[in-house]
Amino acid sequence: MRPGRRILSIVALLLTALPAALAADLWSRLDLSRPGLEKVEACCAAGDYDAAASALLDYYRSRKCIATPEIPSPSKVSISASQQKMADDALEHRFFVTDGYEVYFYGDDINWRYWPVHDNELRWQLHRQKWFTPMGMAFRTSGDEKYAEEWKRQYLDWIAKNPLVDIDASEFEITGNMSLSDAQENMRFAWRPLEVSHRVQDQVFQFQLFVDAKAFTPVFLVAFLENYYRHTEFLRHHFSKKGNHLLFQAQRMIYAGAFFPEFKETAQWRRTGIDILNREMLKQVYPDGGQWELDPHYHLACINIFCKALDMASLCGMDHDFPTEFLDRLEKMMTFYGNICYPDYQTPCFSDARLTEKRVTLRDWKRWSRLFPYNHYFRWMASEGKEGAEPDYQSVGYLDSGFFVFRTSRNADAVQMVVKAGPPGEWHCQPDNGTFELWCRGRQLFPDSGSYVYGGDEEVMRWRRLFRSTAFHNTVTLDGKDLEKTCSRTLLWQPEGKVQQLVTENPSYEGLTHRRTIEFYEGKRIVIKDELYGDATGKVALHLHPGPDALPYFRLKVKGPAGTVRREEQGWVSYHYREKVPRPHLIWEVEKKNHKPVVFTTTITL
Ligand code: MG
Repeated sequence: MRPGRRILSIVALLLTALPAALAADLWSRLDLSRPGLEKVEACCAAGDYDAAASALLDYYRSRKCIATPEIPSPSKVSISASQQKMADDALEHRFFVTDGYEVYFYGDDINWRYWPVHDNELRWQLHRQKWFTPMGMAFRTSGDEKYAEEWKRQYLDWIAKNPLVDIDASEFEITGNMSLSDAQENMRFAWRPLEVSHRVQDQVFQFQLFVDAKAFTPVFLVAFLENYYRHTEFLRHHFSKKGNHLLFQAQRMIYAGAFFPEFKETAQWRRTGIDILNREMLKQVYPDGGQWELDPHYHLACINIFCKALDMASLCGMDHDFPTEFLDRLEKMMTFYGNICYPDYQTPCFSDARLTEKRVTLRDWKRWSRLFPYNHYFRWMASEGKEGAEPDYQSVGYLDSGFFVFRTSRNADAVQMVVKAGPPGEWHCQPDNGTFELWCRGRQLFPDSGSYVYGGDEEVMRWRRLFRSTAFHNTVTLDGKDLEKTCSRTLLWQPEGKVQQLVTENPSYEGLTHRRTIEFYEGKRIVIKDELYGDATGKVALHLHPGPDALPYFRLKVKGPAGTVRREEQGWVSYHYREKVPRPHLIWEVEKKNHKPVVFTTTITL
């Protein structure tokens, strides 16, 4: 029998008959003494598991008391044009996996190992099954069973073709280990804990949307719950050690525990998730409210993880398990985010950040404003200045995170400069100390290069290294190399008056310290003095990256020591994953021959 045929027959078996062992496992995992499960308990006691499965499905179809913040009422769900397209494409096995890639055809007999471009994200994110929930929305809005039938087929097909096998936990993050078997290699992608947590969360939505479908049979319910339990228990024993992955996983654990209280372990699932978030909030978020990836995109993602966890915990009456300390720091994270935002609601593209649509950010602000109703600034952001009040300050510095904002106002005609000069940060942080963005009356004059891609084969990594390199930032390098140390100290921060000032210093290379002084003259003129001192010798270069078509909107003057050569290379800026736009990369370079400091003075006149 061909492998494809064999797998299809496993799926067919799951669709028609319930393996006895599978069923027995499930019933022992449920707390059948819960109110509403009396009939299920009686059927189990009589050994009639088919009747128990039917009774359990009846219970879930009539269970109205548990919803999710995302889908408060499944019958009132709506679907956007892009979600409808995802759902319709999925019927033909054409899957949307992640931004920056086309929709690929995964075969009539789905090949879950298909890897059209060797970007790891494309392989990992396939297993997030992002089209499943849109299929549920399409089913709910149209009533067409074809979406439910196909979802069920694909759901079971995935189970059959992506088995759990033994693998060292550390292998999830490592590429290129040739000693792994095919099944182990596949598991590194299909069962990476971040992907597992994504499914743990989204399958709750799918359950809400599909449970009333004809295709959602008692037999399928048992397969679904078994798979769901297997996912959640796997996740509980394979949490990432740290970082935003751990936050996502903890939040999704709370979803599992809140949505399926019928499992005996659910109290523990919720407790585990809440404890991790309480602990990590104080660890991953600096006291000033900055998140330790030093990446505005992940900062936003983390705020939303915490909010989602709070919302879900609130739905199951556990919001009191988050102490005031947690809420205070969350509020600070939001204030931080608002303060680094430009008047058009975009953030700097520092680290691996990308642009977020204003309508999405506004939706977030509305939600945050509901969570902190007394915060006038949040209401002001949520209402685009129609309600609430803006803060009574303009420029603001975050000394723990190393984010400094000079601004003339919060209106569309503002000039705003954001400087990044902080601690080493975590994985998404780039070696860019001292870099800045400059936004002037609706135009980004010095946008950060962004990240373009995350990781994959050598060609993908070549682009990643380029975009995250120090030279691709508005800062200074020695021999074109990336910074050896990224731990800036703030020597002076003076955010008020006609001349506002920041002095920051980074021990950039062995024998070379970079002191950058920025003077902000009411948004009319900005003077940047770069002093490079120490014993190191070599080529010292100042890099500036004006935005595409930004050059006509300011005057630039750079003064370096005698012998400074100005040249230009090909620069790029990426606002979205796998999208890049050409722009000039301006370089002023001089040979540092001895201990004598090199000084560049840059004047930007607006
Ligand atoms: Mg960058």
